[in-house]
Amino acid sequence: MTAPTTILVVDDEDDVQPLILGLFRTKIKQGLYSFRFVTSGREALQMLEQDNTISLVLLDINMPELDGLTVLSQLPALNPLLTTIIVSAYGDIGNIRTAMNRGAFDFVCKPIDFDDLQVTLDKAIQHSVQVRETYHLRGLDALKTRFFENVTHELRTPITLILSPVQQLLQRYSETEELHRKLLTVERNAQKLHQLINQLLDLAKLEAGHLSLVPIPGDLGYFIEQITQAFAPVTDGSALTLSYENSLTHHYLFDAGKFELIVHNLLSNALKYTGEGQIAVRVAETDMGIELIVRDTGIGIPPEKLPYIFNRFYQVDQTVSTQSATYQTNPGTGIGLSLVKELVQLMGGTVAVSSQCKGPESGSVFTIQLPLPVVGQSDSALKAAAPRLFVNGPSLGLESLAMTPPTPSTDESSPVVLLVEDNPELGAYLSDELQESFRIMLATDGIEGWQIVRNELPDLVLTDVMMPGMNGYELTDRIKSHLETDHIAVLMLTAKATQQNRIEGLQHGADDYITKPFDIDELRLKMQNLLLRQQKLRDRYYRQFIRKDPAEEPAPVQNTFILRLNDIIENHLDDSSFGVDDLAREIGMSRRTLHRKL
Ligand code: ADP
Repeated sequence: MTAPTTILVVDDEDDVQPLILGLFRTKIKQGLYSFRFVTSGREALQMLEQDNTISLVLLDINMPELDGLTVLSQLPALNPLLTTIIVSAYGDIGNIRTAMNRGAFDFVCKPIDFDDLQVTLDKAIQHSVQVRETYHLRGLDALKTRFFENVTHELRTPITLILSPVQQLLQRYSETEELHRKLLTVERNAQKLHQLINQLLDLAKLEAGHLSLVPIPGDLGYFIEQITQAFAPVTDGSALTLSYENSLTHHYLFDAGKFELIVHNLLSNALKYTGEGQIAVRVAETDMGIELIVRDTGIGIPPEKLPYIFNRFYQVDQTVSTQSATYQTNPGTGIGLSLVKELVQLMGGTVAVSSQCKGPESGSVFTIQLPLPVVGQSDSALKAAAPRLFVNGPSLGLESLAMTPPTPSTDESSPVVLLVEDNPELGAYLSDELQESFRIMLATDGIEGWQIVRNELPDLVLTDVMMPGMNGYELTDRIKSHLETDHIAVLMLTAKATQQNRIEGLQHGADDYITKPFDIDELRLKMQNLLLRQQKLRDRYYRQFIRKDPAEEPAPVQNTFILRLNDIIENHLDDSSFGVDDLAREIGMSRRTLHRKL
């Protein structure tokens, strides 16, 4: 049996209670309705605060002290799922309108017509059930998205541990052709896994309506060229040519991550379903924005299947033979095109396809039209409007790379880096990789990390986000909100690729972030850049501190630590007994911390 619908009746007239109990006697007996009665607005708010089984409120507008309209406006804060029926006098249209505008579901007028009340109550109960179901479903959706996010997080760390070492092995040990080839296979497949995981995550987010656009201004033509060029090695040794034509003359506002997914998916498909012939990518301006066309001379899609290829998990089931090969045409997941379509729609555009699957003219053309805002002139487009043909060939420059394994840095002048990472394997890998250029300290969670930060004042903290105990955001918050530690650069290692997560990291004061799986060289570069920036800042503070001629001075740096230090020293200039210990005490740090901070 389901629980009764609990209805709160708020009315200052005494005769309402017996009337309602009489009228709904049967429903109460059957366990369908259960009523609560109060006679003032104040009591109503109290009751609602205590009893969360109430889902419907029958609320009189005209009450002394706290009137119905005021009560109504306070209800969403108490329980956003409440459904309210207003009780008012005939002709009191002004109040009724206000009540409806404040979220009341319906109204009945006094003197109450009980048939009308019965119908209105039934309708309101139905509405209330729907509201609750939607709320519940939304909760489930959020849960599903979180689950996807967490699974993705779990998958990304091991993929980083495959990708990064293999990329390095590729660089270091390429003496034998066979080894090199096998490593390339490992790398390619790990990349594929990485892409799939990203797509799953995006799909989950799209479904839950959590994927939003993050447009930035840029040279879209050049951006697409780079993505296309990345596919050139795949055509290596095959009878395929890949060309690109860019006639954009402007810069546009576009979401790079989502654009990459779209182009990547269309190009992967074109390559997958074209054994030999041509794949051509073209981007051009239109009246509304831009048009992107990916054309291939592949096996094509049967006309009866065309309407379905954008459906999720749909795959055309066919085996096709050409002169050079036989394809089983479903080596994918059926996710790619549905993601393309949803992303294009999210951007306010359309995607269309035309295809021929028979004869010498077989092939497919995918056309995307997007309304994109123009933000300026493009330089690359001015240079090259003619199509570019990507020459086949390996893209790895192997000759110039070091073959010797790294040795740990014992150099006292190398920067101290604290690595906060709860995955021991990733921690070990990173410290192995970085110890050549940095002195590495390891912590396995935020709490331990914070202790080391306070005691050792490292130059840079490289921290994971998701960790037990204290997570990376909290650790960053602490580092950036303490005078002793706020100068330390923080680089976040985030497994979540969403822009929101990155922004969250930056909002907590992180200086930069890198997404897993990452390229170890990129990580090193980011760390070095941050340290360089710190060094520049240090030089600036130093100059400001020692130079007393204002004409020479650059714009003064507003740093609380430097300002306080300056103040304290100036106050004790004539006190010859004032020493380092006194200075440390006045600024509230240990002598050692003060020394390191300085
Ligand atoms: P999949 O992972 O199977 O490629 P998609 O959603 O990307 O999933 O594509 C759905 C189906 O559409 C594919 O299984 C394939 O049969 C067909 N398809 C997509 N692009 C092409 C193309 N360029 N040429 C021929 N068939 C294609």
